[in-house]
Amino acid sequence: MEQISARIANLSESETLAMSQKSAELKAQGIDVINLSVGEPDFFTPKHIKEAAKQAVDDNYSFYTPVPGYMSLRKAISQKLKTENGLDYAPEQIICSNGAKQSVCNAVLCLVNPGDEVIIPAPCWVSYVEMVKLAEGKSIIIETGIEQDFKITPAQLEAAITPKTKGIILCSPSNPTGSIYSKAELKALAEVLAKHPQVFVLADEIYEHINYKGKHESIAQFENIRERVAIINGVSKAYAMTGWRLGWLAGPKWLVSACNKLQGQYSSGPSSIAQKAAEAAYLGDFECVEEMRKAFERRRDLVVDLAKEIPGFEVNVPEGAFYLFPKCSSYFGKSHNGRTINDSADLAMFLLEEGHVACVGGKAFSAPDYIRFSYATSDENLVEAFNRIKNVLDKLK
Ligand code: PMP
Ligand code: GLU
Repeated sequence: MEQISARIANLSESETLAMSQKSAELKAQGIDVINLSVGEPDFFTPKHIKEAAKQAVDDNYSFYTPVPGYMSLRKAISQKLKTENGLDYAPEQIICSNGAKQSVCNAVLCLVNPGDEVIIPAPCWVSYVEMVKLAEGKSIIIETGIEQDFKITPAQLEAAITPKTKGIILCSPSNPTGSIYSKAELKALAEVLAKHPQVFVLADEIYEHINYKGKHESIAQFENIRERVAIINGVSKAYAMTGWRLGWLAGPKWLVSACNKLQGQYSSGPSSIAQKAAEAAYLGDFECVEEMRKAFERRRDLVVDLAKEIPGFEVNVPEGAFYLFPKCSSYFGKSHNGRTINDSADLAMFLLEEGHVACVGGKAFSAPDYIRFSYATSDENLVEAFNRIKNVLDKLK
């Protein structure tokens, strides 16, 4: 007899990881699938970072680490926040975890009581709503569309805040849209938040360095809300280190100590080797990050051009991250060989099974009229994938 708790039974599976898994299964059957589903850099981790990890093994970094991470790593992150972002965070205000994903979840679990409301601007990353569910909170989705470049306005934010609002999760540059809030836009949101002292801000900045617009702007820079902001970031995207599992949170000491308590009972400090690698990343040459960023920017230009060629797709020009999020609802209700496309999940499955291109339907990102393509892959793959997409969508009548 299965005895799954209601807490887990009610949780949805991560659609990004599920689609990637499906694509891997088809590949294992010998089918030539192009995987534009999961979002991860296709580059290898830079050499100097790998060397630091090898050295850490040889130097016997094999013991439990402090729950919030090695002091040397937290110092390196504190330094990064100062030099790259102009923000002052002492190492005691930083806690490292198994990827940024755990940092977001730590923060949600430490902040949210049952029934508390958490505002999530949508389209949003698949895991936010599920994390809030895990904490027995209530997600309050603010919907945005392509016509407003997927960014919430101060008026929308004001309207969503209630006495029960505990926090907001803001992701810029955004997964899945690639939109980036400008300094002026963040300031306007901060002014609204300043009027509501019960609202805490979780700023997910994991795509900080995948930015085609210019300097990264953090909402933590505004003094009027600064003490109620936690920044979440990590090495996964900037340094092509998704598998190393090293992320972090920087914020007020009371939140960091709560995360420390949770993590201490739940998973302990993150991997010793990954921490030494991350330290080398933050202390090392920045050129590797810039090279990858340039490659993503070139691919962004390519993929926007390719997607604009597809009839029925409404495409914007993302300013960051490595996702394209076209509106695809013009295909809903169309059929091929007795198979009808009812929603974006159906469309993603159709593209996978008929076109052998893996992507993720927008429903998983609380935006059912859209579909997400990760363009963190080679130019050849992108050209071939969009060729396939065009041909297979052409069959839908
Ligand atoms: N936040 C967002 C918006 C993401 O897309 C992801 C996925 N990588 C994460 C957090 C988690 O990143 P990590 O691999 O460091 O856990
Ligand atoms: N964040 C990436 C994505 O959206 C990786 C998968 C995940 O953790 O959701 O595809």
